[in-house]
Amino acid sequence: MTRILLFLDALFFIGAVYFTFESVREREYQAPKIGVGLSLFALLLAGFILWVPPLRPFIAVFFGVGVAALIVFAVPTPPDPRILQGAQGHIVEEAIRHDERDVSFARVRGVPPGTPYYKRYYSMHPEREEPDAIRREKGLLGEPGRVDKRYRPNVAMMEASFDMPNFLGLYAEAAPSPENPPYEADPKKATEIVKNLALTLGADMVGICKVNPNWVYSHRGEIFYDRWEDWGKEIDPEELPPYAVVMLTEMREDHVCAAPHTPTVAESARNYGRGSYLSTVLAWWFAHMGYRGVAQNSRHYDIALPPLAVDAGLGEVGRLGYLIAPKFGARVRIFAVLTDMPLVPDKPISIGVDEFCKWCKKCAESCPSRSILMEDKVVYNGALKWKLDADSCFDYWTKVGTDCSICMAVCPYSRPNTPLHRIVRWYVARSRLAQKYFPLVDNFLYGRKWRPKPVPSWLDYPKGKDVVKEEYGLGRVNDFG
Ligand code: SF4
Ligand code: SF4
Repeated sequence: MTRILLFLDALFFIGAVYFTFESVREREYQAPKIGVGLSLFALLLAGFILWVPPLRPFIAVFFGVGVAALIVFAVPTPPDPRILQGAQGHIVEEAIRHDERDVSFARVRGVPPGTPYYKRYYSMHPEREEPDAIRREKGLLGEPGRVDKRYRPNVAMMEASFDMPNFLGLYAEAAPSPENPPYEADPKKATEIVKNLALTLGADMVGICKVNPNWVYSHRGEIFYDRWEDWGKEIDPEELPPYAVVMLTEMREDHVCAAPHTPTVAESARNYGRGSYLSTVLAWWFAHMGYRGVAQNSRHYDIALPPLAVDAGLGEVGRLGYLIAPKFGARVRIFAVLTDMPLVPDKPISIGVDEFCKWCKKCAESCPSRSILMEDKVVYNGALKWKLDADSCFDYWTKVGTDCSICMAVCPYSRPNTPLHRIVRWYVARSRLAQKYFPLVDNFLYGRKWRPKPVPSWLDYPKGKDVVKEEYGLGRVNDFG
C-alpha cells in the first residue's frame, strides 16, 4: 500500500511541477502559484505517507477519487450529430444568405456619402445611417494604436502587413489561359498535392469541402480598387467554382495575449499578409494547372469563411463567433481558394466546442463592449448561433485603435499547443462531462478576469500613467473617450 501511494504521489508531484513550469512559460498570473501550492502539497503528502501511517487510508481515498475522476471523464460520449453535419447542421429554418453590404467594414468603407450606393443602401436601412456616419467619421480603427499612444513600431508593423493584401488583392481571381488545358489528376492524388502545397506555402492547417451555396454572400458590398460597378451585384453561387481549399494560419500566442494592445493587431495584420500570399499563390497554381482559382482573403470575399472552415473539418464556431481549431483554438485566421479542380472533401469534426461554450462564457464576460451573447443561441438568417454584435465590437475597436481580440486571447481553447493542453483537449473533445466541468477548472487555475500578458521586449509598448486607463472583463465597459 505504501509503495502504491508513494508512486501515485510521485505522479501527482511530477504533474504539479510540470503544470507550474508550463504556466510560468505561458506568462500566467494565477496558475504558477497554484502549481507551486500543489507541488508543496504533494511533498507534504509524501511525508504523511512515510511517517504518519494513520493518515494512509485517507490519502488512499484522495488518490482513489482522483484516479476515478480521470477515468470517468475519459468515458466517451457521442457528439451531437448536428455538429458532424458541418455548418449546415445549425440551420433550423430557411437559410438566408448574408449580404456583404451589411458587414460593418463594408458599410464604413464601401458606401461613400453622396454616391448612388449611399442612397440605395440607407433607403433600405435608414436606422443605420446615423451610427454609420459616426463610424465613418472616426475611421476604421479610429486612431490606430490609440490604446498604446499610437506606438509607432507596432502601428507601422500593422500598417506594413495590411499593405500586402492590398498589393495582392488585384490578383485574387486566376483563370487558366486557353492554351493550358486542365491537368488530369486522380482527385485523391490532386488532394494530396494541394494540401501539401498549402502547408508548404505557409498554412498551418488545411481542409477541403464542397461550396455550400448558403455561405455565399448574396450581394457584393466590399469595394476595393475603385471597382464601384461591383457594389450591390448579386453573387450567383452557380458561377463560383464548386470546391474550396480552406487554410488556417496560427496567430502567435505571445502576441495575441497582449490583447487589446498593439502587438495583437500587428499579429492579425501579419496573418492577413500571410493569408493573402498563400491564397493568391494557390489560386495561380490552379490556373497553371488549367483550372480556375479564386482566392478568398481580406481583399476579395465571395463567401463567409467560418462556415466554410467548419465544413472543411477545421474546427467549430464558438460563442465568440470565431472558428475554434483543434490545435490553436481561436488564434487563427481563415483563407480559402475556390477551384473547379476535382478534389476529395474532408468531413466536419467535433472537438467539444458547442457544449463547452454553453458552460464557459469567459469571452462574453471579458468582452469590454458586451458584444458576445451571455445567453443561449438565437436564430439568425435561419441558423442557430451565438450572434455577435459586430457593430458594438467594431465601435470598441475604434476606441482602442486595435482589433481588440480579448475574446480570442481569453478563450481556454487558445492556450498553446503543449502536451499539457493537448491532454485537456483530448478529454474535452470526447466527454460531455469534461465539456461541462472543465470550464470551472479553467476558471480556478487561470482566473476569470482578462489581464493582458507580458510580451517579448522587442514588442513592448508604452505603459504607465500617461497611457489611457484600462479595465478588462467581467462586464466593465472600457471608456477611452
Ligand atoms: S470587443 Fe473585443 S472581446 Fe468583444 S467581441 Fe469584439 S474583439 Fe471580442
Ligand atoms: S471563451 Fe469559452 S465560451 Fe467563449 S468561445 Fe472560448 S470556450 Fe467558448
